[in-house]
Amino acid sequence: MPIKQPTCAECACMREYCCDYGICTREFNAAFGHELYGHEIPIDVATWALNWTADHMRDMQSVACDDFWNRRELEK
Ligand code: SF4
Repeated sequence: MPIKQPTCAECACMREYCCDYGICTREFNAAFGHELYGHEIPIDVATWALNWTADHMRDMQSVACDDFWNRRELEK
């Protein structure tokens, strides 16, 4: 019998958008800081966020990443 693993849906970093798909807010924050540093025009930020989100939707039933496990260890 296969071992059931935690999924992104069980992670506090997941933000659901629609039908079990969402984005990893850790990935979003890392990309935001990396790609928008120095930008000051809000519409650029909104457009960037919309495009980034559409390109990075995750299936919330996919297996949790190593960050999930590492944070669980720190919380013990
Ligand atoms: S399990 Fe990993 S990839 Fe999935 S939402 Fe959490 S931090 Fe992001």
